[in-house]
Amino acid sequence: MRRYGFIAGGAEHLPAAGKYFDTVSPISGETWAQIAECGAADVALAVGAASTCFETVWSRLSPTARGKALLRFAEVIAEHARQIAEIETCDNGKLLKETSAQLGVVPDWFRYFGGLADKIEGRVVPLNGIEAFGMTKYEPLGVVGVITPWNSPVLLTTLAVAPALAAGNTVVIKPSEVASASVLEFALLARKAGLPDGAINVVTGFGEAGAALTDHPDVRQMTFTGGEGIGRRVAAAAAGRVAPTVMELGGKSANIVFADANLDQAEAGVLAGIFGAGGQTCIAGSRTLIQRPVFEAMRARLATRAGRIRLGDPMEATTEMGPLVSADHRKLVVSKIAAAVAGGARLVAGGNAPDRPGYFLEPTIVEAGDAQDYIMQNEVFGPVLALYPFDTEDEAVRIANASPYGLAAGVWSRDVARCHRMVDALKAGTVWVNMYRAMTFNMPFGGFKQSGYGRLNGQEAIMNYLQTKAVWIDRSDRVQDPFSLKTE
Ligand code: NAD
Repeated sequence: MRRYGFIAGGAEHLPAAGKYFDTVSPISGETWAQIAECGAADVALAVGAASTCFETVWSRLSPTARGKALLRFAEVIAEHARQIAEIETCDNGKLLKETSAQLGVVPDWFRYFGGLADKIEGRVVPLNGIEAFGMTKYEPLGVVGVITPWNSPVLLTTLAVAPALAAGNTVVIKPSEVASASVLEFALLARKAGLPDGAINVVTGFGEAGAALTDHPDVRQMTFTGGEGIGRRVAAAAAGRVAPTVMELGGKSANIVFADANLDQAEAGVLAGIFGAGGQTCIAGSRTLIQRPVFEAMRARLATRAGRIRLGDPMEATTEMGPLVSADHRKLVVSKIAAAVAGGARLVAGGNAPDRPGYFLEPTIVEAGDAQDYIMQNEVFGPVLALYPFDTEDEAVRIANASPYGLAAGVWSRDVARCHRMVDALKAGTVWVNMYRAMTFNMPFGGFKQSGYGRLNGQEAIMNYLQTKAVWIDRSDRVQDPFSLKTE
């Protein structure tokens, strides 16, 4: 059985306290690897390696050299993509089809941000009456802490690591204790690609390791992806030492199906939104609002198709939905289905855990009795879809926006003007029109409201990892009046 240490300064280390924890395959329920349980001393070692690399190598490289290093890293990741995807599927139970597709595009993030590394340009600022030359420079922050969840470990890590490195920072990653192995394998490729030791470091373990990283005084920025509860704690702890954060949190995203939609397209998009990845995705379209004239027809279509979804081994190409990530997570999702029913929802499809090894759960659909019902307001992070009817466009907007979250939304209609009105009215960081569940390296991604703040992907993302330096250079040769502020 593989026993993983943590990674600092390009090498694997044993945890100081000598403790490891089991990582269990959700397909078989069996332990398949052991992971180092890092404490504060291990985190300090990793942050120290990242600081040294930042100060002595990475931030001193020319931006073009940094970009080239990331392009080389992209090629090495591409060579190992399939192998890492298999490890990730074994660890979190996601379909190999999905993990392979994700690992297949991870190199593109490093190509895109590697290409941006030498396009970070300051400005010349006109200084009106002051005889001086004014310019801005963008500089890296230093060590960036990256905390990620288990549902798409390498992709979500990449969303932060690629722009952070391109901007000249070094990183310490803390992957989820539920699925750490693929991130460790990914980080080990950095050395193969010739990245300097210490550019990418990984500490593993539980919340204590994440908290030690968040609290470390040399970590100058935290990018957190995960649940809202932990996100609040990380944001508060970082604020306590005035370190900026990016928060990528949960969602309760609405798919809104109008009666004039192409219903075949809408049905497939709604299913993809909630049952793709077994609903274990932050962008899950977990509420579907359906205009009343097509409500019953859509409910019947969705229930029929959900009942036919092929559950099975996520390694098999014909499987449509794998298991949930762990026994505990399945227990939580089942308890949320019970809370949905207790809170007024009616079960339309699924709801049971099949009697077989692994943590499987039937694709589940409920019909909510009220827009404020438990199931309309709370994230499940599992294959549970809530349906709710609406009459008018205004009503659809009101219900969709009546959520503490604002990560994503889907609109299904053939009326172009209506689609534009909906795009304007929906309070969500991403709006998909007649499509759902897509992500690329160049399209900004992030949440409104309690889904978080800051944007990953696209040119915006690099700004999270830079700070502006204002430079004033006198060109008057005059002696300054010591008792007045130089302004116009
Ligand atoms: P989680 O919040 O339980 O854990 C996330 C990470 O935080 C893990 O690595 C965990 O070990 C770490 N952690 C735990 N306690 C900590 C502490 N006190 N200090 C610092 N770190 C700590 O989330 P999860 O269960 O792994 O993932 C599911 C959640 O993630 C869902 O809410 C989902 O919506 C969200 N998510 C958001 C996005 C996004 O981009 N917006 C993407 C994927 C998942």
